Amino acid sequence: MAKPKAKPSSGSAPPSGFDADVIIAGAGIAGATLALALAKAGLKPVLIDPIVFDAQVAPSFDGRATAIAYAAFRQWRALDVAPALEPKAERIEQILVTDGRRPGASAGGPGPFFLRFDAAEIADRSEGEPLGYMLENRHIRAALAAAVQAAGIEVLAPARVARAEFGPRGATVTLADGRMLTAPLVVGAEGRGSVIREAAGIGAIGWDYRQTAVVATVRLERPHGGVAHEYFLPSGPFAILPLTEDRASLVWTESVSRGAALKTARPEVFHAHLQRRFGEFVGAATREGAVFTYPLSLQLAERLVGPRTALLGDAAHAVHPIAGQGLNLGLKSAAALAETIVEAARLGEDIGAEAVLERYAAWRRFDTATLAAGMDLFVHLFSNDHPLLRLVRGAGMAAVNRIGPARRFFMQEAGGAVGDLPRLLKGEAL
Ligand SMILES: Cc1cc2nc3c(=O)[nH]c(=O)nc-3n(C[C@H](O)[C@H](O)[C@H](O)COP(=O)(O)OP(=O)(O)OC[C@H]3O[C@@H](n4cnc5c(N)ncnc54)[C@H](O)[C@@H]3O)c2cc1C
Repeated sequence: MAKPKAKPSSGSAPPSGFDADVIIAGAGIAGATLALALAKAGLKPVLIDPIVFDAQVAPSFDGRATAIAYAAFRQWRALDVAPALEPKAERIEQILVTDGRRPGASAGGPGPFFLRFDAAEIADRSEGEPLGYMLENRHIRAALAAAVQAAGIEVLAPARVARAEFGPRGATVTLADGRMLTAPLVVGAEGRGSVIREAAGIGAIGWDYRQTAVVATVRLERPHGGVAHEYFLPSGPFAILPLTEDRASLVWTESVSRGAALKTARPEVFHAHLQRRFGEFVGAATREGAVFTYPLSLQLAERLVGPRTALLGDAAHAVHPIAGQGLNLGLKSAAALAETIVEAARLGEDIGAEAVLERYAAWRRFDTATLAAGMDLFVHLFSNDHPLLRLVRGAGMAAVNRIGPARRFFMQEAGGAVGDLPRLLKGEAL
């Protein structure tokens, strides 16, 4: 008996015989952003996710806040998502990086193990943008969900991609409930456990850091002034990231067992742990909401594309959050993939053809691989209390701090505004 077809949608007409132009497995932040970019350019994407948007935006689902590079934020401006996000976004005006045994070691001012980035220094090149915007993930998810709905994009949820087959003329995706969908191109944006990556025969390399990221939101007793702090402590990095209303998102690494204990610890036990580990620096911050933990690992797909397949976001590259670059990398790739697909469609090309997908891979391969390798090196260099390594990184930080152009380069790199930028990252429509 033939399998039932997934219900066709009401959007613009897909190419004849197909249910959609692009099937996107995974309606996370990367997948939803790509879907919006494609729909705004007149194509018909379909999003599939086992978790409905209403569950994704619940306060208990994702407690993280993300540092969004200013160039990545421009993409959301171009896609009309920014008006909903701006009231929730905190501008990062300065980033202070300290290599200390305890937070606050350099509170007296710049020292040899101290690095200071200031948005004012690159204001001429960034058009007055901050170094980035801090946004709680639940707000990003809510704004994207509303925009996806407003754009009339079909979302199949709850629905899980179970299999995919790739033929010379199109791909067929089978959902766990047996429904089938066809399109010339399938995008795997389902995170680390990408079914599409496996179905396309694309291997992945990586390793477990055997660390857990602990995340909590706190209300601060003093105004944060838009300053983000990153401390490289012997136990691993500890970040205090500014949020609206003088709150902050705390992110640090712990052993897996300690992370699990902190997640369920009573508030006073959790706060005592913060004080013991990070000293008075955190002050009388009061926790708001639950403690969240995330296992940390590196996973890099061997290729970004396969037959009628492109990988996006963590499905392609899941990196350590040490420098807050994982999602930014995915958002840059979403912009590059959307531009590649839309241009091919306008030229009348087959959007799932190898030659088209190779353009996307060539565009993003170098950036993705160098950033993933850089982050991995960073983790090993900075989660370490070896005296020689402390000396090397201290010297490196002091050098960067003294050399204005080097500092400005790092700021622009963190802002996502270097390299061959996709149009959406320049704030231009497709
Ligand atoms: C503690 C921490 C802090 C971070 N901070 C930052 C930061 O400051 N800046 C930054 O840039 N990055 C940061 N990151 C990285 C960032 O969170 C990730 O890169 C990002 O969430 C990946 O988004 P994604 O959409 O690619 O994947 P995901 O968020 O993993 O979304 C995948 C989606 O696919 C769905 N799915 C799964 N299986 C299937 C299936 N079979 N079929 C269909 N759908 C499926 C899932 O339900 C999910 O909705 C941080 C990460 C951590 C852990």
